[in-house]
Amino acid sequence: MIKYALVCESAHDFDSWFQSSAAYETQAKRGLVTCPECGSAKVGKAIMAPSIARRDRQIIEPQGDPAPSPPPAPTQPVALLDERQQNLRAMVRALHARIVADTDDVGQRFPNEARRMHEGDIPHRSIRGEASLEDARALLEEGVEIMPIPRLPEERN
Ligand SMILES: [Zn+2]
Repeated sequence: MIKYALVCESAHDFDSWFQSSAAYETQAKRGLVTCPECGSAKVGKAIMAPSIARRDRQIIEPQGDPAPSPPPAPTQPVALLDERQQNLRAMVRALHARIVADTDDVGQRFPNEARRMHEGDIPHRSIRGEASLEDARALLEEGVEIMPIPRLPEERN
């Protein structure tokens, strides 16, 4: 004799005894195994139910209690410089230092000074200073050879 825990389509579970597992299979196929509560012949072994439930719970539990995702942190562009880029940066820094050392800082008067030099009103010399984008564009269009001084990351404060 073998005892099966059975469950019908309406989820009534009940126990039933059979001569053998083969006998159960035969009777179940013929619809002879019926639910004592509702009489349904659509019954199956309930023995798998606990493991199915456990498998479901393992899947569901992580989803049911999700870790709160942190809000996206503000980002800023960053770069990891390789050796060549570090050399380039050193060159830019050297060029910057050279320009600063070799030029007179005329500040806001730069566009005016540069234009006067270009016109020959004052002697030519190397100057640096501030120019708006519009001033710089106008000077270039007038043929005044100006160049932007490379800015160093440390100076962008
Ligand atoms: Zn039933």
